[in-house]
Parts: sequence; structure tokens; C-alpha cells
Amino acid sequence: MNQLLKWLFLDLNSYFASVEQELRPELRGKPVGVVPMMANTTCCIAASYEAKAFGVKTGTMVADAKKLCPNIQLVEARHELYVDYHHRIVDAVESCIPIAAVVSIDEMACQLTGSQQHIEKAVTIAKTIKQTIREKVGSTLRCSIGLAPNRFLAKVGSDMQKPDGLIVIKSTDLPQILYKLEVSDFPGIGRRMEVRLKKYGIKTSEQLLNLTKSQMRTIWGGVVGERFWHLLRGDDFEDMETQRRSVGHSHVLPPDLRTREGAFSVAQKLVHKAAARLRRMNYWTSCFSMFVKFMDRPSWDSHVKLVECQDTLTLVEALQFLWKKVPSGKPLAVGIVLSDLIPDSFHNFSLFGEEKRARLAKAMDRLNKKFGTDVVYFGDLHLIKSAAPTRIAFTSIPDLEDF
Ligand SMILES: [Mg+2]
Repeated sequence: MNQLLKWLFLDLNSYFASVEQELRPELRGKPVGVVPMMANTTCCIAASYEAKAFGVKTGTMVADAKKLCPNIQLVEARHELYVDYHHRIVDAVESCIPIAAVVSIDEMACQLTGSQQHIEKAVTIAKTIKQTIREKVGSTLRCSIGLAPNRFLAKVGSDMQKPDGLIVIKSTDLPQILYKLEVSDFPGIGRRMEVRLKKYGIKTSEQLLNLTKSQMRTIWGGVVGERFWHLLRGDDFEDMETQRRSVGHSHVLPPDLRTREGAFSVAQKLVHKAAARLRRMNYWTSCFSMFVKFMDRPSWDSHVKLVECQDTLTLVEALQFLWKKVPSGKPLAVGIVLSDLIPDSFHNFSLFGEEKRARLAKAMDRLNKKFGTDVVYFGDLHLIKSAAPTRIAFTSIPDLEDF
């Protein structure tokens, strides 16, 4: 049997509360509830481990939290700090191992390759990551890490021991190692699915894990059930599905757009096109790359890791971010690539308010479909649209491959 560990999944423990405790030592070791505003009618959006011991959780109303834990220290959320720490944690992890997907503000997945797939090496990497976060980002920040043959089980593992956990799920430990979990502990089994499973008499993980592939197909009502059966057994088909896939567009600039501004506008248009395609495919991306070919200097390329997204706005921001690093010169062609693609079924919404952006992007797609492409576009595109109306057909920018 395949003993290799192919994925490492990292989950920061009580993330928002931990950042507050890191920044304010007087809160360390104390029950802390992070709230959107100081009011009894709101709820905790995060709780420290000390508060969790009293039964306070994400979603507990402040009035209830005070009853459960009279000494709870309530602090107002400071999202910009959590985002800042997020980027520092991403950098710390990436100094140990490349991140395949930033799943949310406090979760990331890394794919293990070569010798990293052996248990000793994988465990060493996990410990190094923990230490690097403590050294480079914050001495009190802890995370739980799961190591497993696929990303799904690595995430399950990262949830099995908190705080500061390190769980290894080997193929040979399956399925017994999962028996102690609740059915609802598995990502993808929400309340509705739990009810459905109960109807079929499935109340424990052991029962779930003893279902046959075709039974799971029946209960889930399709191939999703079969897919779940494979995931529970450690099969890693993300390799196949996501590693090879990417969405990219490139464009050779017409002579009058061989300026920094012209190249940027075209790159932005390519981002719009790629983002719309990504959404049509029902995929999410976590890596944005771009390149610029110059007439008077060597080509340049760079990439940035993203929280899984599929909305145009985030991707345009990624472009703007990288664009600042583009060296000066006379551009000849630009290209962008969205990679590390994640299918909808693997995607978890982050806490960045990205849901709102995803909805906005879908709404734009609908409008464009209804009224013709490019009815709705971002402000900067307007410039290029009117500046070179005859040079570029905006509905069909030819790809570099077309030349
Ligand atoms: Mg967490």
C-alpha cells in the first residue's frame, strides 16, 4: 500500500484571538472573545482557547459569552492586523515549503514532493514550520498541522488535535484512525448531509467508513459520493485535477500599445478574460503569475500566492501588485496565468469577505451575458477601450498562441 504523505495542511489555532494575545501580552492565558463591535447584541467571531474551555465559540452571542465566562475579555476585531499577520505567516511557511493553496485567512495547504513524502521528513517539515512561525511572526502563535495522503485527510488531521497539533494519517492507519471522529467533522458533511446520512442509518464515522462506493453514490445522489469514498481512503486525485490545469492568456502588443500604460491595460483585459473563464469552469485559483516580454531587455516574470478566489477584482489587485515590480523597458507582449486551480467541491470560503466579491463577479458575468460582453467592466479598462477602439477587439483578444 502507498505509504507516502502527499499533503500538509496547516490551520492556525484561534487565529484572531491569538493575534490579539500576541500583540497584547496582558491578554495571554486569558479567555478572550473577539467581537465585531462592543455590544451585547453581537456575537464572538473568535474565541481564545481559554474562552473555548468555558464553552464560548465562534458565533456565541456576547450576552451568552458573558454568562458562560464572566471574566471574558472582549476585544474589538482589527481585521487589517489579521490580514497583515496572514501575509507574514504565508511568508514564514513559504520559507519552509511552497504553499499550494491559501485556503482561508488561517488555513493553507502544501503539497509534499519527493523525499518530503516520507514520514520522518514530512514531520520535520511540519515542526520547522511551527518553529518558523513562532520565530518570524509571533512567539505565541500556534497552529495544528495534518499530514496525509491527500489534502482532504490532511485537513481532517489538522482538526484532530488542538492547539499546536501534529497528526499523521498514513494509508495503513485508514480507516480506523478516523473512527473517533464525528460524522460532521469531515469537510463537506454539513448539517443537511448529516440529516440525510441519519435517514440511511449512518450515525458514526465507523458506519460511514464502512459504506461501499455504490452505497455512497446512492446516498449522495451521484459521483460526489463516489469521490467522497475515494477521499476517505486517501486517494489523491487533486494531482490529476488541479496541478496540470491552469488558465492563461497572453497578447502581443500592437505598436501603439508598447508602452507601460498600454501593456498594463492589455494585461488587465487578459485578467478579466481569464477570470470569467475560471468561473465558467467552476474553478478557483490560488496563484497569479504574469510575464512581460520586452523589445529592449530580457523577459520578466513573477507570481503571487492568493487566497483561493475567482473574482476579477482580486485578480486585478494581484496584477496591480505585481505590476509595480515590472522593470522599465519597451514591452512587446504580456501574459497572465491563473494556476493552482481548485474545483468548487474543494473550495472553502475564506473570511476575507470574498463571498461578496464572488457574488459581484457572478453578477457581472450575468450582465455581460445578457447585454453583450464588456457592458460591465472596471474603470481603468474604459481608458483603453476608448483609446484604441479599432486596434483591439475586446470580445476576442487573440492569444499569443494564435500568432
Ligand atoms: Mg483555525
